[in-house]
Amino acid sequence: MTQLTMPCPCCSLKEYDVCCKPYHNGILPENALQLMRSRYSAYVLNLPDYIIFTTHPASSQYSNNKFSWKRSISQFSHHSNFQKLEILDFKENKTVATVTFTAFLTQNNRDATFTERSFFEKMRNQWFYRGGQLTRGHAPNLVTTGQFRLLPLAYYGETILRMKADPINEITHDIKKLIDEMIETMDACDGIGLAAPQIHHSIRLFVIRKPIEKDQKPFENGEVKVFINPQLSLPSIETWMASEGCLSIPTIRAVVERPKEITVEYMTIEGKIITERVSGWEARVIMHEYDHIEGILFIDRLNPEEQAKLLPFLQNLEKRIHDGQAL
Ligand SMILES: [Zn+2]
Ligand SMILES: [Zn+2]
Repeated sequence: MTQLTMPCPCCSLKEYDVCCKPYHNGILPENALQLMRSRYSAYVLNLPDYIIFTTHPASSQYSNNKFSWKRSISQFSHHSNFQKLEILDFKENKTVATVTFTAFLTQNNRDATFTERSFFEKMRNQWFYRGGQLTRGHAPNLVTTGQFRLLPLAYYGETILRMKADPINEITHDIKKLIDEMIETMDACDGIGLAAPQIHHSIRLFVIRKPIEKDQKPFENGEVKVFINPQLSLPSIETWMASEGCLSIPTIRAVVERPKEITVEYMTIEGKIITERVSGWEARVIMHEYDHIEGILFIDRLNPEEQAKLLPFLQNLEKRIHDGQAL
């Protein structure tokens, strides 16, 4: 009896039977790179259940409507002609990982190749796909195992998000290292801001990417700014409404009313005290992050009717994250 063998679609040069097939049959990948490869081959082989099973419940791609989710994955598989997978970079620690890859494919005979930096998280011994950031153009074909600098996020329902954070007395080497890691984590998650409680440190510190306001889009992510022991004062009477989201409350967005301008006094990483009058999106991001170190979330700023509307979604999110199961 001869057994049919085929090369694994993940381009590992191994046979499917000894590469991605065991994962598709229920063996849990040991690391995020194996998960990445096996998810790619699941797309090639049109195995939507595997994609769903390995998507983090807090991912923006997660959907409660399994039927339509499954159908859209299948449609993507069906309409794509997968040519090659190239892994460019892989970094992993105990609970978080990133894999940067280029997927070479065509759709309707048109090139649809993309490069993505994927973010993975481990919960209860299982790796999950958390989200991805498309990087424009092709990154150099270089596999590195650089020092890992991503931090696990705290999600809605965790007590640290509800605590008033402590002031920082001294900008130590550890604080500087934490700031570097926060910036890398914020960028990996495609966030515009990140506060220390969101990465399980109850201290008065947050980082943002200064929003550059654009005509069409609300903003682009600009330079990094670090705020140590910030204080807010003199909010403008004039307010404005805009839609906000939060890395700790994934998949949920809501329109929040905030002052148009505010004054912020803070310490820089060099220990300099700065006082600035900020407005628009920058003021909004700073107020959102400042709220985090006070134990306040943007959903607290909604009126009671809107809060009531969001409640079932929040309860569902909390349950999904707590159970740590995609299915
Ligand atoms: Zn494989
Ligand atoms: Zn937030």
